[in-house]
Amino acid sequence: MAKSICVYCGARDGDAPAFAAAADALGAGIAARGWRLVYGAGDVGLMGRVARAVQDANGETFGVIPTHLMEMEVGKRDLTRFVVTETMHERKKVMFMNADAVVVLPGGAGTLDEFFEVLTWAQLGLHAKPLILVNVDGYWDGLLAMLNGIVARGFADASLLDLVRAAPDAGTALEYLD
Ligand code: AMP
Repeated sequence: MAKSICVYCGARDGDAPAFAAAADALGAGIAARGWRLVYGAGDVGLMGRVARAVQDANGETFGVIPTHLMEMEVGKRDLTRFVVTETMHERKKVMFMNADAVVVLPGGAGTLDEFFEVLTWAQLGLHAKPLILVNVDGYWDGLLAMLNGIVARGFADASLLDLVRAAPDAGTALEYLD
């Protein structure tokens, strides 16, 4: 089966054109490799951009959205596979179980929730799927500094830092996945 890449990212565009450009490049690169995009099925912000970039390059898309967000996040029904769940927890579970790797683009609190869930599961040894932060425009510098601080202050082993790889841009993230 083709590689499935789960992408977590903002339901908004952020304040820099570089964020949208990274979503476009990531989506195009996923499709070009014959991989499948797994994401939150919204048609807003970077979520919508990454999905449209995959579709524009004739790639496969798998979206998962809970019923209550269908309106707010504009559920994108024209995906290759479109799954509607009852809850956020089911959404996250279906997305993760259908992915071989996780890529995190810039985003807000929702993106962070998803990132930390996957990171903490890796820390507990529940999975070994690659986890890549796309640090566009240094957006995740603060998060990376916080993770380093957690290790430095004795609240995690240094191995925590081996569970996540930071890429400066979408192209480098795709190289890591290759
Ligand atoms: P944000 O990064 O806040 O723009 O959110 C990005 C995506 O994460 C959106 O599709 C949100 O619905 C989703 N999200 C927000 N909170 C959670 C949560 N607690 N669990 C799972 N997904 C969430």
